[in-house]
Amino acid sequence: MKVAVIGGGAVGATAAYDLADRGGDVTLFDRGDVGSGSTGRAAGICYDAFAADVDARVADRAVARFREFSGQGGFRFEETPYVWFAREGDERRERAIREHVPRMQANDRDVELVNPADLAAEWPALRTDDVAAAAVTRDAGCVRPAAYAELLAGKAESAGARVETGTEVGVSTDPTGVTVGGDRRGFDAVLVAAGAHTKRVLADAGVPVALKPYRVQALTTADGPDVPLTYDATGGFYLRPYGDGLLAGDGTEAVESDPDDWKRDADDWFVADVRDGLAYRVGHDAEVTDAWAGLCTATPDRDPLLGEIRDGLYVAAGWQGHGFMRSPALGEAAAEAVLGGEGVPAFDPTRFTGDEEFDIVEGMAIEESS
Ligand SMILES: Cc1cc2nc3c(=O)[nH]c(=O)nc-3n(C[C@H](O)[C@H](O)[C@H](O)COP(=O)(O)OP(=O)(O)OC[C@H]3O[C@@H](n4cnc5c(N)ncnc54)[C@H](O)[C@@H]3O)c2cc1C
Repeated sequence: MKVAVIGGGAVGATAAYDLADRGGDVTLFDRGDVGSGSTGRAAGICYDAFAADVDARVADRAVARFREFSGQGGFRFEETPYVWFAREGDERRERAIREHVPRMQANDRDVELVNPADLAAEWPALRTDDVAAAAVTRDAGCVRPAAYAELLAGKAESAGARVETGTEVGVSTDPTGVTVGGDRRGFDAVLVAAGAHTKRVLADAGVPVALKPYRVQALTTADGPDVPLTYDATGGFYLRPYGDGLLAGDGTEAVESDPDDWKRDADDWFVADVRDGLAYRVGHDAEVTDAWAGLCTATPDRDPLLGEIRDGLYVAAGWQGHGFMRSPALGEAAAEAVLGGEGVPAFDPTRFTGDEEFDIVEGMAIEESS
């Protein structure tokens, strides 16, 4: 089967590898370099702490594959526990954490509620005197996202795929193929994994999708204390160890961004907020070494769009800020769908018509089940 994969981010590179490894005749296209989209701007936080059955299955597979690939090329999965919590007074998120943990455990996740004093004993720098409910998973780690995409694109090439970077392509639906400049190239199947550009690429081919790109932000610091991967659900920010320092972020701008015209630098308010947050949470007066923004993609129900959307045309996007950590499983599922398997039925992109009105919800937000 001749397959075009549009987008050499973590998801497209994984799909290209799995397709080529299973006998597909694959070409992976990227308008820039492999990993030059959102993947190259991601924080590299990976964990399996998801409550819904399908999400837990996907995350379990993703973490297992990260571990399998770790040590190959320049890619390393650095095992680091992930801790998340709600503060006192934030009863809604406290209830949500207490409700999610048993559901995660029922899905075989190695997750437990943890006493704030025990957290403080393990990580003395982490302030926990205001924590109402906290949980921890040890199935988590930190990575360099671009190294993952580079590894998987390299593995795809070794399995026989062609990788064409610096090549912006469009989709042609009748017959199935891609357009490069004015030329059409025929394929049996086209997988659009173009990140924030997915909606535009498909719209140009007359295929509407319910997807909105939105801006999030991150920064790094010169140094920092010993901390786990941490998400302060009440404060709405995360941090992770990063070399000798920390990487911290969120800074969600809950409005639709133009994927070709958005501010790449972080906002001053974001940098100030995170510096305050670090001073409060880990007692660290941070020297900021870098601060940037990037794009995530939202869907109406916060679940991905993954699967066939027209005959021979497949989409893989809409990760709501969790695309990198699930990419080894999502790319694999996309490849399976292209090869005639079922993919992930819950993520079927045809559940939307593409013209839905919806608000963008911050990706890591913790909410009670409705
Ligand atoms: C600051 C920040 C921090 C984040 N932190 C995390 C995190 O810790 N964990 C996590 O799970 N997720 C995180 N994310 C989200 C994560 O980056 C994305 O979900 C993930 O990288 C998406 O991967 P992708 O392969 O779908 O898309 P992308 O990495 O965006 O790849 C899409 C590719 O398509 C290419 N492309 C677009 N249009 C075309 C075209 N017409 N022709 C050819 N190529 C095209 C682009 O150049 C790009 O390389 C973060 C995002 C940001 C911005």
